[in-house]
Amino acid sequence: MPSSHPLLIGNAMNAKLETTAFNRPVTRQTFDEVLVPTYAPAAMVPVRGEGLDLWDQAGKHYLDFTSGIAVAALGHCNPIIVEALTRQANTLWHLGNGYTNEPVLRLGLALTEATFADRAFFCNSGAEANEAALKLARKYAHTKFGAHKSRIVSCYQSFHGRTLFTVSVGGQSKYTEGFEPLPPSIDHIVYNDIASARAAIGDDVCAVIVEPLQGEGGVVPGDKAFLQELRDLCNKTGALLIFDEVQSGMGRTGHLFHYMSYGIVPDILTSAKALGNGFPIAAMLTTHELAATLSVGSHGTTYGGNPLATTVALAVLETIRQPAFLARVQEAGAKLRSTMEQLIGDYPQVFSQVRGAGLLLGLVVTEAWKGRSKDIQKAVEANGMMVLIAGMDVVRLAPALIVSDAQIAEADRIIRQSLDELLKAA
Ligand SMILES: *Cc1c(COP(=O)(O)O)cnc(C)c1O
Repeated sequence: MPSSHPLLIGNAMNAKLETTAFNRPVTRQTFDEVLVPTYAPAAMVPVRGEGLDLWDQAGKHYLDFTSGIAVAALGHCNPIIVEALTRQANTLWHLGNGYTNEPVLRLGLALTEATFADRAFFCNSGAEANEAALKLARKYAHTKFGAHKSRIVSCYQSFHGRTLFTVSVGGQSKYTEGFEPLPPSIDHIVYNDIASARAAIGDDVCAVIVEPLQGEGGVVPGDKAFLQELRDLCNKTGALLIFDEVQSGMGRTGHLFHYMSYGIVPDILTSAKALGNGFPIAAMLTTHELAATLSVGSHGTTYGGNPLATTVALAVLETIRQPAFLARVQEAGAKLRSTMEQLIGDYPQVFSQVRGAGLLLGLVVTEAWKGRSKDIQKAVEANGMMVLIAGMDVVRLAPALIVSDAQIAEADRIIRQSLDELLKAA
């Protein structure tokens, strides 16, 4: 391709990049030297993935039951997604919001056809989708009822992202400590506690935000009666009900979105994580009436809905929304649950309960093993498998939705082997 810029003379430059910047030796220790220490990643560094298989720098194989925290739902380097991404990468990457593009329009059509929603707003992360939802709820209440209706109600142990607003709305104080002053007018209720909801949701509430299945907070499914009570209280008070399905959505529980399994419809739905299978994209979905609250210029983001991200998300959505695909997720979820129930039955000293839905399951540790989920995670990793934790007392399993029965059997074998080793060492 002809170019007038002296640094872009094709192959010579590419060859130089290949032998320098892209080939520098890096290790886990480099993380401690150059990255801000907000994470404590594992000792091994994965370099390549395919489906649920991952390999680290030393060539060691891992069975991945994390899918990058419920993100790579169709597996690593899924050929359908790679094809869609590379086709679009060779066509058009980015325009900016002065122009729309075909992929974002197609994704908007597909998402609104597949859900209760009429309108979509695209951004880049779960936190941003929730931020948009909360801002919309504030503006709607402000416009329709007045400034007094501004209170936001959320649940303890909930997780809604890490911007200052969403982390304040989230119900885990360890994430807000030291970041004060926090935005005011936010209350927390006890998850699945109807009395707590009734006491908190009054006429000054503009939004109630809830995960229909709490992920980070310990893989805790919402009770139908509790979610229905939130719906009723919102109807009564004019507050908007926001379902945060960043983790529970996009097929994870065997339904395109988990709200569909309850038949309780929110006013606003947020999606991210699996929506892009690892390519950053998020969506806030709502109705015509509510969307009209946000006029030109009232909200936005540079990358939101760019052609690369929306092409990937469309390929993901069109794959996951197929009834046969979702039926298999339900089947695999039932298989994983029964396998894990048998496992915890054989290890009653370690685990007390399996909870969750579909392919998002939590293994809850016993009183004797309290605080030790990370020890289990490390032992499993040493044996060639990756699992998540959800707090210090829950081992969380979130394999790609394409997990096979053989991979579930292999996961069972590795977890058992790891528990045997831990128990012997104890
Ligand atoms: C992960 C998560 C978020 C935050 O998403 P980011 O993309 O990390 O900003 C919000 N809500 C829930 C329920 C999540 O699981």
